[in-house]
Amino acid sequence: QTKSDGKGAFRFYEHSLAERLQARLNMERALHQALEQNQFVLHYQPRVDSMTGELRSLEALVRWNHPDLGLVPPLSFIPLAEETGMILRLGDLVLEQACAQIARWKQLHLPVVPVSINVSPYQFNHGDIRRTFAACLKRHDLEATLVEIEITESSMMGEQAEVSAELTALRAMGIKLLVDDFGTGFSSLSQLQRLDMDGLKVDRAFTSELVKKPEGEVFFRAIMSMAHALGMHVVAEGVETEEQLHALRALACDEIQGYFISRPVPSAEAELLLQKRFLLPAHPRAALPAT
Ligand code: C2E
Ligand code: MG
Ligand code: MG
Ligand code: MG
Repeated sequence: QTKSDGKGAFRFYEHSLAERLQARLNMERALHQALEQNQFVLHYQPRVDSMTGELRSLEALVRWNHPDLGLVPPLSFIPLAEETGMILRLGDLVLEQACAQIARWKQLHLPVVPVSINVSPYQFNHGDIRRTFAACLKRHDLEATLVEIEITESSMMGEQAEVSAELTALRAMGIKLLVDDFGTGFSSLSQLQRLDMDGLKVDRAFTSELVKKPEGEVFFRAIMSMAHALGMHVVAEGVETEEQLHALRALACDEIQGYFISRPVPSAEAELLLQKRFLLPAHPRAALPAT
């Protein structure tokens, strides 16, 4: 079909393909260099108890601090890192940086909370996640409860045997496990039950639909009763408005995360969040004794 567009169009197509290949090669080379020079920084986004506003965890989100481009968001380099296997080294850098940061906060006597780390499926299938985590925790003298792992729902579906063996071992170490972007993949109830996850992070698409469509609330309620029945807590991702917060509180969703509470911030600002500890005004009902 390209050829029938005429010579000009075809040449344009060839040109742009070559350009894209070249750009990819350049990017790959730049990423290699970035790994060697560790040009990566972590930003941290809080996750809070929806009723009390108390900080529960900080999610580590990687950014590439590119010498010319500035901070590059993860979605523009993580896929390439996964395709090329570079995600293993990137994952190690992220873990190391997160653990070093928690250790520093502890030294400063800050009230630390667990840092939650995003792990790619590739790392489960090709790396030695278990040993990497154990070694890093040991190196920094940290309890396993100070890190959590987020894996996307879709990554739980591939290579099931290996992934579930790794997850079981990590959980036995005391590391909490969260399903990320829940609702965008196709995991089954039995998978969720077998994998024994601690929490579900509901994808932000559903948070946004919660106040837009009547089915939004039905969906949230269904997820919550399923998760609670399986012993998991529920986190709503992408909370951007007060209206969404109110709706989630009315549903008694356990925890929330999103720009309404805070964007991901550099470590110096994350430190202030640790000090502040309560990041939302408490819901009136949260003050009453638990019923
Ligand atoms: P994620 O783990 O689902 O993280 C949430 C993403 O949504 C973050 O984007 C965050 O900045 C953004 N976000 C948070 N609250 C809101 C909100 O209220 N509204 C909107 N519109 N967006 C919100 P970010 O930092 O660009 O990260 C994107 C994805 O990159 C992450 O999605 C995660 O899958 C991946 N990622 C980030 N860091 C790492 C890492 O160290 N390793 C791996 N393997 N993946 C990572
Ligand atoms: Mg995540
Ligand atoms: Mg997520
Ligand atoms: Mg998401």
